[in-house]
Amino acid sequence: MLTGVILIKSKPLNKSALVGCTFIILAIFILSALIYHDTIIINPTTIPIKSGPGINYSSVNMKQKKRVFIIGERRNWYRIRLSDHQSAWVPSWLIHSKRPLNNQNHLAGAIIAIDPGHGGSDSGAEYKDDSDKSKYMEKTYTLKIAQSLAHQLESSGAQVVMTRSTDKDVGLKERVRIAENDHVDCFVSLHLNSSPTQNEGSGITTYYYHRGPSKQLAKKVSHQFKNFPISNRGVEFGDFLVIRDTKLPSILCETGYVNTSKDFKLIRQSSFQKKAAHAIAKGINLYLANQ
Ligand SMILES: [Zn+2]
Repeated sequence: MLTGVILIKSKPLNKSALVGCTFIILAIFILSALIYHDTIIINPTTIPIKSGPGINYSSVNMKQKKRVFIIGERRNWYRIRLSDHQSAWVPSWLIHSKRPLNNQNHLAGAIIAIDPGHGGSDSGAEYKDDSDKSKYMEKTYTLKIAQSLAHQLESSGAQVVMTRSTDKDVGLKERVRIAENDHVDCFVSLHLNSSPTQNEGSGITTYYYHRGPSKQLAKKVSHQFKNFPISNRGVEFGDFLVIRDTKLPSILCETGYVNTSKDFKLIRQSSFQKKAAHAIAKGINLYLANQ
């Protein structure tokens, strides 16, 4: 015998109640989407917060992580509202990055132009291997070092502008135009040296054209090539169009002699390419730290 058992039978919702519920859920969803649209979460320990759209502007103090409204955009930087009377700027690419930075460095927020020398029909200098009659072209290795440098700079929070990222022709004036158009903070052109006869030269040279910021950048980068597998020839003045016609801090690095077998043996190794790129990235970071 079943006693004391109360059976509650729930009433099925009628059609109009169901429509009403769906409408309320949809309204809540749209409302929250509208509220959070154009808002981002800023973590001041990982994102540079500046008074203007660029790393050269002064830093803005923000104590803790918070959600803010985006109220504008310029040069790939977002303008954000911190309070009723205060706004600031943050690099947009770091907000959307899938790999947030652990800590800030001076490359975070910087825009760097990398110019892999030559390309397409212009192979640059060549190394001829007499043993197997192979020909190796400068344009191949400037691109490999550039790709490694781009990867390292991006991992540190910089945005990279490449004058070419494939094997194609790009005019010298076009390379300058690309860098000048993108509000770049530094321009680095990558080349390899060569001597009139094979196996005559060796070493790494960092060139500048303009005194001041370009020369300072050249010195910082060149210093990183100390105790390198290829000897460091230091900093030199170089009349190259790409660094002469750019108004921004710009250098040209020749990371060894492509037509000298002892240099080329290293140049073709990905570990050397990575090491050279690391030295350049470190030099740029130190240069930016002093600005
Ligand atoms: Zn070259």
